[in-house]
Amino acid sequence: LLRRIAHFDGLTQAHTRPYFMDSGSALLARSATSAVVLLDIDDFKAINDRHGHDAGDRVLRAVSDTCRANLRAGDLFARYGGEEFAILLPDTTAVAAGAVIERMRSAIAALELDLPDSRTVRVTASFGITAPGQRRPGPADPSLEQALGAADRALYRAKRGGKNRILFDLEPVGVAMSA
Ligand code: GH3
Ligand code: MG
Ligand code: MG
Repeated sequence: LLRRIAHFDGLTQAHTRPYFMDSGSALLARSATSAVVLLDIDDFKAINDRHGHDAGDRVLRAVSDTCRANLRAGDLFARYGGEEFAILLPDTTAVAAGAVIERMRSAIAALELDLPDSRTVRVTASFGITAPGQRRPGPADPSLEQALGAADRALYRAKRGGKNRILFDLEPVGVAMSA
């Protein structure tokens, strides 16, 4: 039971952040071709404000379920923060990751959650993707922390670009580019 609490988020049943960091570091070291993704729900505070915290919780569970429905058994999926999720796709090229995440993005945007008061909630999410080790120049084996930093910068640009979209990181993960 203690292990279950440590490894799984109680609300969404996604893995916890500490589990993601532990298990993700090992996965990343084992797989030369992998993708790391950060997902942040768009305007989630407004959903809570408009429909209440229980509706917000339902949205979190629905988004989490939709993500999992689009992942494979070997993929790692975790609740990374309040309304933020992290995904590690082992043995996946950047192009393949883009296709998986686009299916996920559109499935989330298509959700219609009927509330007890007969209102309907819709939701979108923004995504940042990095494919550590698949770009040159860049370190051959960037750490999970470096990959998450790159994914987060891409996510930030996805938000600034208008949300409900997927952006890849452009800079190499880890060391700065030099001659
Ligand atoms: P953005 O589109 O820029 O991501 O804006 P946002 O509103 O999604 O982001 P912001 O960080 O302003 O708000 C996140 C909100 O998520 C605030 C917090 O109250 C809410 N939240 C965090 N955890 C939970 C939770 O477990 N349940 C519910 N219902 N709300 C939560
Ligand atoms: Mg957030
Ligand atoms: Mg958000």
